[in-house]
Amino acid sequence: MRFDIVTVLPGLLESPFAHSILQRAQKKGLVEIYVHNLRDYAANKHKSVDDYPYGGGSGMVMQIEPFAACIEKLRDARDYDEVVFMSPDGERLNQTITNGLALRKNMIILCGHYKGIDQRIRDIYVTREISIGDYVLSGGELPAAILVDAIVRLIPGVLSDETSALSDSFQGDLLDAPVYTRPADWRGHRVPDILLSGNQSLIDNWRYEQSLARTRERRPDLLDE
Ligand code: SAH
Repeated sequence: MRFDIVTVLPGLLESPFAHSILQRAQKKGLVEIYVHNLRDYAANKHKSVDDYPYGGGSGMVMQIEPFAACIEKLRDARDYDEVVFMSPDGERLNQTITNGLALRKNMIILCGHYKGIDQRIRDIYVTREISIGDYVLSGGELPAAILVDAIVRLIPGVLSDETSALSDSFQGDLLDAPVYTRPADWRGHRVPDILLSGNQSLIDNWRYEQSLARTRERRPDLLDE
């Protein structure tokens, strides 16, 4: 799978992909992540990519020309399944959306800044608009990193234990069960005996009951769906 992320702040996206699971996924050749500096596509000599909003008001608006130049160059080289714009007014990201996107091959992700991007970019180029939650951040870079992380860990071969993404919260509409590791007794706080029993079917049952109870308590809305 290939991601092309378009941003005015490429430095913000260096660290998130340079560690742990995301780094290994790239080294294994399971995913390619390219970050494009939007300013490289600005035609003016000051490399500016934003301008004042028509109709007045506060905040700068990102212009269509550099986005168009970047997207068109990428699309000339290969086909893309989606051009995603990270936006607080997009569909709110959840595991179902992420599962669907993990089946795609090539994806462009646009990061907005300031007041946002010229509506015509959204009308003409964007195929999908995604929000990471009902709050406003200063740019689309962190949301883009979150989207890529959520997708990449679902690609077969990325997680060393293939089943572990399937048992995570929100897969199958249940939250994950509590987890424990050594020591079995820490200052009198003991790990539940059943986890030490060695009886896998009892353990699976216990985990399911715990998942269900936790979901009922914390997220009953998931059980109504
Ligand atoms: N004026 C816009 C917010 C602009 S915030 C509005 O009210 O909708 C600047 C940029 O940050 C956005 O263009 C978007 O790319 C990104 N952004 C901010 N909050 C986000 C969120 N919750 N989800 C995804 N992207 C977000």
